[in-house]
Amino acid sequence: MSSENEQQLREHLAEQYRYVEQIGLNELSSGNLSCRFEYGMLISPSGASADNITPESVVRVSLDGEWEGDRKPSSEWRMHAAVYLAKPSAEAVVHTHSDYCVALASQLMPLPGFHYLVGSFGGNDVPCVPYSTFGTQSLGDDAARALATRTACLLGNHGMICRGKNLKSAVNLAHRLEIMCRQYVLTRQLGEPKLLTEEQWDEFFERAKKVSYGRFI
Ligand SMILES: [Zn+2]
Repeated sequence: MSSENEQQLREHLAEQYRYVEQIGLNELSSGNLSCRFEYGMLISPSGASADNITPESVVRVSLDGEWEGDRKPSSEWRMHAAVYLAKPSAEAVVHTHSDYCVALASQLMPLPGFHYLVGSFGGNDVPCVPYSTFGTQSLGDDAARALATRTACLLGNHGMICRGKNLKSAVNLAHRLEIMCRQYVLTRQLGEPKLLTEEQWDEFFERAKKVSYGRFI
C-alpha cells in the first residue's frame, strides 16, 4: 500500500521519465531515473520506456538491492544506490545515454571548462570515469566518487549520471550537460577552444555564491 507521498513521487517520476524522453535525452530504454525514498529509493523499472512507464511500475528498492513487486528495478540500481550512500544531500539521480554526452564519454574525455556554465556542475570541468560493465558495483563506485565533488559526471563509453536536490533539478542538470557537451563538440570543430583561467573560475564561483546561482555541491 503506497502512502500519499509515495504515490506522488511515483507519479512525478513517471512524468519526468516521459519528459526526459520527450526532450531527446533517452531513447529506447537507455536511461533511468530515481529519487530517494525513506531508507532507499524509487527507481524506473527495467525495460521502462516513455510508452510503458506508469506510477505503479516504478520500483521501490533498498540501498542494498532488496526490491518489491513484480517489476525488476533498472539494471543500474547499484549506481543510483552508490550515489545515495555516498552523498546524503542527493535526493534524485538521472542516468542517460544522451548523444553528446556519449560522444565525449566515448573519447574518455572530461568536459573541460570552455564555458562558465560548466561551473554549474560544481567545478571547472565535468569528469569522465573509466569504462565498467553496466550494472556493476565498480561503475557505481566510480560514479559516486566523481559525484562527491560534482553534480554530474560522464561514464566512459557509456553516458552520463547526475544528482540533484529533487527530480526536476536532476533532470535539468542532465539536459544542461547534454547542451554543454553539444556546444563543446561544436566549438571543437572551429579549433581548440580557449578555457577559462583559474582566476576567471575564482571570480565565477565568487559571483555565483553571491547570487545563489545554483546549489553547487
Ligand atoms: Zn546506461
